[in-house]
Amino acid sequence: MAAIGFVGLGNMGGPMAANLIKAGHKLRVFDLSQPAIDKLAGAGAEAASSASEAVKGAEAVITMLPAGQQVRDIYLGPDGLIACASSGCLLIDCSTIDVATAREVSAAAEAAGLDMLDAPVSGGAGGAQAATLTFMAGGSEGAFKRAEPILSCMGKAVIHAGGPGNGQAAKICNNMILGISMIAVSEAFTLGEKLGLSHQTLFDIASKSSGQCWSLTSYCPVPGPVPASPANRDYAAGFTAGMMLKDLKLAQDASRMTGANTPLGAEAASLYGLFSSHGAGGLDFSAIIQFLRGNC
Ligand code: NAD
Repeated sequence: MAAIGFVGLGNMGGPMAANLIKAGHKLRVFDLSQPAIDKLAGAGAEAASSASEAVKGAEAVITMLPAGQQVRDIYLGPDGLIACASSGCLLIDCSTIDVATAREVSAAAEAAGLDMLDAPVSGGAGGAQAATLTFMAGGSEGAFKRAEPILSCMGKAVIHAGGPGNGQAAKICNNMILGISMIAVSEAFTLGEKLGLSHQTLFDIASKSSGQCWSLTSYCPVPGPVPASPANRDYAAGFTAGMMLKDLKLAQDASRMTGANTPLGAEAASLYGLFSSHGAGGLDFSAIIQFLRGNC
């Protein structure tokens, strides 16, 4: 079992770190929030007073931070994790960030002789708690082989997506599918309501027809057909509309950078932007159906 430094103990990082402890790893943890550190200390982690202290002597470091700026700030510079990590330490960033920052930080790690993976996740806070996340990892084959047994303690699938940044590339492509498909399912229920179809009837038919998709069958945006979906709890997140907007913007940045044609991705980013600007960024992203109905 490894000595692991873990930085970023929020909705995702907190339960992920707890699962590593349950699997027998020795954790030293840091977050800007003291209550988040205290919670993990209560679960058996050693509390650190800074990110650089959390990585001292660690065989592996995992970060789970909000966005690219925090990842850049934490890893780079004279007091950054790359400078403070012991030789041979494996660096794994699980945050969802832009591909360019992931590649820049990975190149800095490589220049310092350290293995690094970008390994963002799918599965949400529920998946983080249940250790059923999907990890999509970008980096060398060697770094992936070293990381796999650690990531497996927190997820059900660990997939190598290719070289540095490819984990982030897979993540933003996946979430662009998710954002577009949630809007599509929400539009279908909105139209079905106007045409006199009950929610359950439309669900029963579409879930066994060619409209079947995850946004319908696992995360249905109307209450009833899928009891575990946020629609049954007044759209308490889950995965917030603000987070979806962040990921759709990352996908649009990448589309501009590469010249890819993603008109529905652009429209989805615009709709989630409008929805969030109405003060709904903290709701679950499936609440976009309320916006389409004109309810907010
Ligand atoms: P969160 O805001 O709950 O947690 C982020 C944590 O990072 C916070 O506890 C914050 O205090 C800490 N932090 C920020 N800057 C720091 C710094 N400089 N040093 C130490 N700690 C710092 O966010 P989250 O929901 O846990 O999401 C984390 C990442 O996972 C994001 O990139 C997000 O896009 C991605 N993600 C989230 C979900 C989800 O459903 N929440 C799903 C998949 C991926």
